[in-house]
Amino acid sequence: MKTKIHHITGWNSAYKRPFIIAGPCSAESEEQVMTTARAIAQYPVNMLRAGIWKPRTRPDSFEGMGEIALGWLKNAGKEVNLPVAVEVANTRHVELALKAGIDVLWIGARTTVSPFMVQEIANAIAGMDIPVLIKNPVNPDVDLWEGAIERIAKSGISKIMAVHRGFSSYENSTYRNKPNWEIPIELRRRIPGIPLICDPSHISGKTVLIPYLSQMALDLNYEGLMIETHIDPPHARSDAKQQLTPAGLGKLLAALVLRNPSVDDVFELSKLEDMRDQIDEVDQTILDYMSERMGIARMIGQYKLKNHMTIYQPERWNEIIRTRTKNGMEKKLTREFILKLINIIHEESIYQQTLQMNPEQFNSQPADKEGNTAFDA
Ligand code: PEP
Ligand code: MN
Repeated sequence: MKTKIHHITGWNSAYKRPFIIAGPCSAESEEQVMTTARAIAQYPVNMLRAGIWKPRTRPDSFEGMGEIALGWLKNAGKEVNLPVAVEVANTRHVELALKAGIDVLWIGARTTVSPFMVQEIANAIAGMDIPVLIKNPVNPDVDLWEGAIERIAKSGISKIMAVHRGFSSYENSTYRNKPNWEIPIELRRRIPGIPLICDPSHISGKTVLIPYLSQMALDLNYEGLMIETHIDPPHARSDAKQQLTPAGLGKLLAALVLRNPSVDDVFELSKLEDMRDQIDEVDQTILDYMSERMGIARMIGQYKLKNHMTIYQPERWNEIIRTRTKNGMEKKLTREFILKLINIIHEESIYQQTLQMNPEQFNSQPADKEGNTAFDA
């Protein structure tokens, strides 16, 4: 299907790259929404966001203020002269948002995964002229993302933006939702002209990575950013760790550099960045395994102590060298590298085991307050 999408320049005359959408993860009170809006509006922001109905991973978390907050957001937007956006996940949300005069709808990552839900929203807005932001699905599936965009486009909506908010993964990761920069680029290849927005808040899960991710997105030629901003982040009722203060947002926006890369640069840059992200993941895994290995070494230390065994056992060490070099060389690692690596791992393991050799137990001599025994004298 040929999807017809208008570039933002076609529907937002105020658009100037980067297009900035900011506001709290959740609307929490009338005052919080208004104060945030006023503070944010001092900076070059183009749209105000707030979640009203929150899709939370677990029950009993704060699930948003619901309908009443639509009016708070609309009033705040009027006050600071900014269009307002909320997340919708079903027909009822759409109807209530439209009735309250909400200007822009967004489809969350947990909704984009479900063709039933996306179709329900598409039917509810059929023939209307409302802009829709479509977040990537939680899983890295470009077809599913494209399909969601097609469903909305087929119901007559042409003002669509795609939001990259990262993809969830089971492994421990630096990111809350791992970015996969090639997927949005592939989406733009398939739907030329679709505006891309990056949501560094949900990708990182923590504020420290937001500047780097924001600059990365601009270097990859994204049209804009969606950044969660709260007047009092530590007390936010959802996503407290990833929200900037309005002043923090102002500083970030002032620090961003706008470049105009060519299409080739963008594609090459995204490949490099994806490979670097893979390296980060692997390093994290190596550290997790090292920590697990040293934990086992400490247990062995205690076992040897209890059973009066020596820590260093040459036959065991020879066997480690033999098996590890064989396995490692089969996996294209050099013999020198494997030997260096197992030597430092082994050294640390021995050290961790000796830590278990508390002099008090070792000597069967009572230690004094400083830990000295008769042997230390
Ligand atoms: C949000 O923007 O607050 C949100 C719930 O995002 P996502 O759908 O990306 O998780
Ligand atoms: Mn959030």
